[in-house]
Amino acid sequence: MANSVSSLKPLPDSVLNTFARLKAFAPVQDALAQIKQEEQLTVDEQVSLAEVESAPFHEDKRAAFFADKLKQLGLKNVRIDAEGNVIGIHPGSGQGPRLVLGAHLDTVFPLGTAIKVSREGNVYRAPGISDDARGLAVLLEVLRVLQDKKINTVGDLLFVGSVGEEGNGDLRGTKHLFNSGEEHIDGFISIDGVNISRLLHGSTGSRRYRAIYEGPGGHSWKAFGNPSALHALGRAIAKISEVQVPKEPKTTFTVGTAKGGTTVNAIAASAEMEIDMRSISDQNLQNLVDTILPLLEQAAEEENLRWNATEPDTVKLNLVPIGQRPAGDQSDDSPVLLAARGAMNALEIPLTSYDCASTDQNVAISLGIPATTLGGGGTEGNNHNVKEWYDSTNSFLGPQLAFLTVLALLGVAGETQPLLTKRP
Ligand SMILES: [Zn+2]
Repeated sequence: MANSVSSLKPLPDSVLNTFARLKAFAPVQDALAQIKQEEQLTVDEQVSLAEVESAPFHEDKRAAFFADKLKQLGLKNVRIDAEGNVIGIHPGSGQGPRLVLGAHLDTVFPLGTAIKVSREGNVYRAPGISDDARGLAVLLEVLRVLQDKKINTVGDLLFVGSVGEEGNGDLRGTKHLFNSGEEHIDGFISIDGVNISRLLHGSTGSRRYRAIYEGPGGHSWKAFGNPSALHALGRAIAKISEVQVPKEPKTTFTVGTAKGGTTVNAIAASAEMEIDMRSISDQNLQNLVDTILPLLEQAAEEENLRWNATEPDTVKLNLVPIGQRPAGDQSDDSPVLLAARGAMNALEIPLTSYDCASTDQNVAISLGIPATTLGGGGTEGNNHNVKEWYDSTNSFLGPQLAFLTVLALLGVAGETQPLLTKRP
């Protein structure tokens, strides 16, 4: 199974040969040079994408904008599917594998968040300037050089702008992409995050719940003795705080949000929180869920017992599942991982982090489809915060990495065989 950078075997000759041939092929050299020359153009497109609002469950404006960009670059049959994903196909020469190159359209910022990008030198600031406007801009640049240099891949390349990657979107875009069966897909690459030295082999799974406590409420003085929904919530958080989890495989939990009550002088009639649980292992994740959910019920019982509350004036728990992302891992020999490492090697990018995370790749990996997530280049900070920033220094390496990885996986007609194989 996949593990750390230091335990990786050297790249096989077949992969090294593929990259040697790609690097020697003049149109590929020209395309790499074009990507470097167009570094600023790519960043300008990133800025224009970031300035189109794209709140969770409201990605339609950015989807339309991105679809137009794909069409302007000559992609035919660009469509928006029933879930809201933008899909455009750059066809190969035929009979080859089909690879998705994707980035997510959604941001974490609610509708109405002001998005105007400001710039100082190479540093750009705005909510969502990096995550994942960068990924979308990388997709456009890869498409542009494929078209300009007339590079014919053997396999088909599907450009996908996905909806619902963040938070409560719960990967609804990629779940639809794979579950609808509308597209046959043999491999999947997401451009998300910017660190080009990081390669993801596995997916952390997550389970998320909203726990809502409801009780009789009442005046804090006159109705004293009624159980409190907010006190029940506090008991629950105290219990969750004490839960022990294994270090390996890494398993985590947090109460991400909590709110309740209406005023200082009333017993709270309602209180709720959202809980996030994650693990690299589906089994450990299930164990954690089985540990935490009963604590939520116990908290309500203890609050009722404390006040000898009787029906119907008791606090009750309403538990709503709000997220389920599958965990999964793949072999170090996965063609997508080998191709990405080969491309890093060819571009002299050191691999410093070989890791697991939760991204659009989760759905593919859980289905056994080779998949990874690559950084879009540059550096970033304060993600998921209105103070988000992006530094474009040497950011051209991001689209170069994506471009070479894609070519190796799909093959270039007359030059290289695809590293990616077709699934039945
Ligand atoms: Zn992201």
